Amino acid sequence: MEVCFNTASLALIRADWNRQLQIVGFVPTMGALHDGHASLVKRALLECDRVVVSIFVNPTQFNAKEDFDNYPITLEQDLQMLEEIGIDAVFVPNVEEMYGRNQHVSSVDYGSLTRSFEGAIRKGHFDGVVAIVRKLLTAVDPDRAYFGQKDLQQLGVLKRLGRDEFPAIDIIGCPLVRDVSGLALSSRNVRLDEEHRMKALHLNEAIHEVGLSGLRGDELTSLIQGIKAKLNEIQGMDVEYLDVVDANSFEVWRSEISGAQPHVIIAASVGGVRLIDNCLVTCS
Ligand code: AMP
Repeated sequence: MEVCFNTASLALIRADWNRQLQIVGFVPTMGALHDGHASLVKRALLECDRVVVSIFVNPTQFNAKEDFDNYPITLEQDLQMLEEIGIDAVFVPNVEEMYGRNQHVSSVDYGSLTRSFEGAIRKGHFDGVVAIVRKLLTAVDPDRAYFGQKDLQQLGVLKRLGRDEFPAIDIIGCPLVRDVSGLALSSRNVRLDEEHRMKALHLNEAIHEVGLSGLRGDELTSLIQGIKAKLNEIQGMDVEYLDVVDANSFEVWRSEISGAQPHVIIAASVGGVRLIDNCLVTCS
């Protein structure tokens, strides 16, 4: 497995694969890898001749400095995991390699996809996500790029980026992976103590209660309000949103939108750790 710290060394490898007409898969990550990341990497290995994973904690997508400062970094373990899975190359750039001296990113407006929910609460978040993924797709030049449905809104934003600016690259969404207790795997979970890890399980229960309810319209609104109020009574829990949206547009869903893919989405701070989760509405 090649470990590239700069774009120039990655470009050499990439040119070689190009000459060999290899299909290249790419999985961008921020490291602190877990089985959710591994599922993306394994899918890429199944579908491509060569696989590149990037590890880069992108400063421009953090709206809170404290969250950036506390983001877990486990590079040695990550490289070991990727070596064991058997990928071809890891791209581990530093901030200067990606941004030079100027971390300014331009603002992105994809309508409600970038303005609602995560876009509304984490100001500038998607500007940073789009900026870094644009740079990484340019540097890696893959045929396919794999992203998790765990970050459902981000997936919608990146599908739009792909369609607009990288039409030759397939942007592929992969299923959300949970641990045995049902908690959505996240690099941030290591910051949950046992008590809050238990409390975090209520997020999964809540989205499935909404998703399986079969309700629409006003009945759905009152069910959501009731669940949200109950969750907020739990000490250390602060629900930012719980709603049903169309996954393609991130507009609120209450009944039929043509071609809609209704998903229940939730974001909450649990013991000071911000978690997100989602599930498909199965009884629509
Ligand atoms: P991150 O390192 O958090 O930026 O995530 C890198 C990629 O892994 C993103 O496409 C995420 O959506 C995906 N990912 C993170 N957690 C999970 C999970 N539990 N299941 C599936 N994909 C995930």
